[in-house]
Amino acid sequence: MERTFDCLVIGAGYAGAVAARELAERGGKRVLVLERRDHVGGNAYDCLDESGVLIHQYGPHIFHTASKRVYDWLSRFTQWRDYQHRVLANVHGAYMPVPFNLTSLHMAFPAEQAARLEEKLLSAYGEGARVTILALRENDDPEIRAVADYVYENVFVHYTMKQWGQTPEEIDPATTARVPVLLSRDDRYFQDPYQGMPLEGYTPMFQKILDHPNITVELGVDARDRLELTEQGAKLDGAPFAGTVIYTGQVDELFGFRYGRLPYRTLDFGFETLAMDRFQPAATVNYTVSEDYTRITEYKQLTGQELPGVTTIMKEYSRAYTGAAGETPYYAIINPENNALYEKYRALAEGCGDLRLLGRLAEYKYYNMDAIALRALELCDGLLQK
Ligand SMILES: Cc1cc2nc3c(=O)[nH]c(=O)nc-3n(C[C@H](O)[C@H](O)[C@H](O)COP(=O)(O)OP(=O)(O)OC[C@H]3O[C@@H](n4cnc5c(N)ncnc54)[C@H](O)[C@@H]3O)c2cc1C
Repeated sequence: MERTFDCLVIGAGYAGAVAARELAERGGKRVLVLERRDHVGGNAYDCLDESGVLIHQYGPHIFHTASKRVYDWLSRFTQWRDYQHRVLANVHGAYMPVPFNLTSLHMAFPAEQAARLEEKLLSAYGEGARVTILALRENDDPEIRAVADYVYENVFVHYTMKQWGQTPEEIDPATTARVPVLLSRDDRYFQDPYQGMPLEGYTPMFQKILDHPNITVELGVDARDRLELTEQGAKLDGAPFAGTVIYTGQVDELFGFRYGRLPYRTLDFGFETLAMDRFQPAATVNYTVSEDYTRITEYKQLTGQELPGVTTIMKEYSRAYTGAAGETPYYAIINPENNALYEKYRALAEGCGDLRLLGRLAEYKYYNMDAIALRALELCDGLLQK
């Protein structure tokens, strides 16, 4: 029997999956989800590699949020492994916590100088303060200014150049100004009240989110082969479709790159499986002064998986996205020129019936997982009030 649908959702990542569930469950809508890849979960997808190590195919994902709504909502579909992320920077072979904090200070400077600097910093800014390197640079004391220079040179500038493909001159001074120094020994990467990893992994969580009698998921389907957008509205498989269409893919691609491509950074991932229990001293080590990759993540340390004698690590290489087959656009390059180009596409979308752009690609911005989940919930709040 042919099913008819009230809503069409394109993409089964956080944006699409959360929206589909809300519309199906809270709104009683019949929802069709079309996903181009052969799996759900979007970039948060995880799976076992050939050695049985649970890996994140599209880069390491650590869940953290201050939103109780998002945490409670996702907790219906997963239990959590208690996990607090810690990142070390490899600075000429020494492993120091990032963001740079008091522990890092004592690793970066000789003992006597570090003790003196700690005292000066604490009396100037107070215990627990998060001070930017801009603020440190404005301090009258040359020793404190030297801390800013150390952090800029050894933690920030080379890493940022690798990540964004920029020269030091091209790096936005506002970004540099915001680089933090933490006057504490709390070396957790995130301070959010809710942090953790889905106990069984992200993919089973997504499968549960999408497991609802009102939801039909079709994998391996590029929506552009089924959906036609005109000023008169949408057509699905050639027939007029009057329902809401939530689109979570690239907006420039949706409109055939009519105004040109929106620029992105992409990543190449170098996976290596090694015959050892543990490779490095933290789940993620950033290479802030050396190597051409930005960081190495060791997955077993993220997921807590017990698997003796084998571990899988992943090196991340950042480069410009060209749009070649097989490349994934990961990070939007936010600047006034690109934002203006995005606005042209957004205006086009506005003229296409009940089309909603949702997610990191469709909105051309960076969202953490919790932020896009919240955005999807709020979009559905609005749609279901109509
Ligand atoms: C390397 C990296 C690490 C990250 N780490 C973290 C982290 O530690 N913590 C955190 O909170 N966030 C992290 N994020 C952010 C997180 O990945 C995003 O918040 C999340 O992926 C956004 O979900 P989304 O649904 O908007 O997009 P996506 O996950 O990209 O999902 C969009 C989906 O739409 C599908 N699609 C696109 N076009 C079409 C089409 N035409 N037809 C059918 N399907 C289509 C795609 O295949 C994809 O599955 C990280 C991001 C990156 C790049």
